Amino acid sequence: MRIAMIGTGYVGLVSGACFSEFGVQVCCVDKDAGKIERLRKGEIPIYEPGLDELVTRNVAAGRLSFTTDLAEGMRGANAVFIAVGTPSRRGDGHADLSYVYGAAEEIAQNIEGYTVIVTKSTVPVGTGREVERIIRRVRPDADFDVASNPEFLREGSAIADFMRPDRVVIGTESELAREMMRRLYRPLYLIETPIVMTSLETAELTKYAANTFLATKITFINEIADLCEKVGADVHDVARGIGLDGRIGKKFLHPGPGYGGSCFPKDTLALVRTAQQVGSPLRIVETVVDINDRRKKAMADRIIAACGGVVDGKTVAVLGVTFKPNTDDMRDAPSLDIVPALQKAGAHVRAFDPAGAHEAEKLLPGVEWTKDAYAALSGADCVAIVTEWNEFRALNLTRVKELMKRPVMVDLRNVYSPDEMAAAGFAYSSIGRPSGP
Ligand code: NAD
Repeated sequence: MRIAMIGTGYVGLVSGACFSEFGVQVCCVDKDAGKIERLRKGEIPIYEPGLDELVTRNVAAGRLSFTTDLAEGMRGANAVFIAVGTPSRRGDGHADLSYVYGAAEEIAQNIEGYTVIVTKSTVPVGTGREVERIIRRVRPDADFDVASNPEFLREGSAIADFMRPDRVVIGTESELAREMMRRLYRPLYLIETPIVMTSLETAELTKYAANTFLATKITFINEIADLCEKVGADVHDVARGIGLDGRIGKKFLHPGPGYGGSCFPKDTLALVRTAQQVGSPLRIVETVVDINDRRKKAMADRIIAACGGVVDGKTVAVLGVTFKPNTDDMRDAPSLDIVPALQKAGAHVRAFDPAGAHEAEKLLPGVEWTKDAYAALSGADCVAIVTEWNEFRALNLTRVKELMKRPVMVDLRNVYSPDEMAAAGFAYSSIGRPSGP
């Protein structure tokens, strides 16, 4: 089996490397020449645990290669995966499909023999049909089928998610395409992964339904957390109390500063737009989007309140800026709302992130970046934990207190316990919990 992966980003690179690990011959294609050059030199352009070894091993075995030349990448391919970005379209929140349709045009020109064209990118219902129309228009003679195979991996645990997924969703009407997809995912059949075979439209919608459901669950517990603060309850106990009910489930009930990242914000918005367009509005999701936007903005106010209502002329240390730990991805990270709001209120922001600083430097001007957490804390009036990287879970609190001008911590990820922080002499606030004795 031979496949081409068009788009070598977080999803394309991980999926391509994992398919090669399954024994498939994979060529990853990207328009970004710098990215391909780095990959050819053995450098991994993104931070993703375990990806380095996986790529190196499969390149060495001759199963994984990289190119900017789509024709070369597609040579002899049984299937071509589209894994390009589908960001929010500026202005209206619809998914921007220009990269997908651009890739479809180029793919059409290079089809040789029967080929399955698979959309792995998250795309609105109807996109697969449009890809089919584009290819037919460009190459009426081409022998191909289209399929939708949305990706559910999470950055930070992407390899394990791809290799041992909860399920694989495949949408196509063609038996030949279905057979090809079964062969590609053969190792997952052996570990009895549920494979959900659907129509094209159903597969496309399933991905959005999954992401919007998860975003709704997070938003629900965030609002419960706010209520807990008002009534003196503890959101973690509430989450455990409800999560142990099998109908609810324990996951995604951790309160925080609002969801961010490369998927939830844009996918919730895109589904809202699709639903409005076809006259079947999703009012729950519309509300979720609104609440989450406001929440991210309101987090700076919490930090300002912890500083006595004024941050003008004060130094705020920010620990973590990526949208979650174990990634360098800054797309729609809550820090992008929080940090500028603090700066606008007059604060000097000093920040540290174990992997995201390089990317964040471009997006957060005026921030003083440090080489470690303690350097960020030195002389600070307040510290805010914005991303729960493991190394922030075990800070030496005595040292932190000595370094800071005032021992004030705003823990937006509930990494520490209120009792522990009170005992260590901190003015500590977190999300949805009483502030301590
Ligand atoms: P990304 O921006 O990291 O990567 C996209 C890549 O596609 C870029 O490197 C870009 O240069 C390349 N590209 C664009 N047009 C091209 C073309 N015509 N030919 C070759 N290369 C081209 O994006 P990503 O995070 O990997 O996301 C890709 C898709 O997967 C999106 O639809 C996203 O919603 C979905 N998805 C992402 C995740 C995630 O965690 N990042 C998880 C599941 C699904």
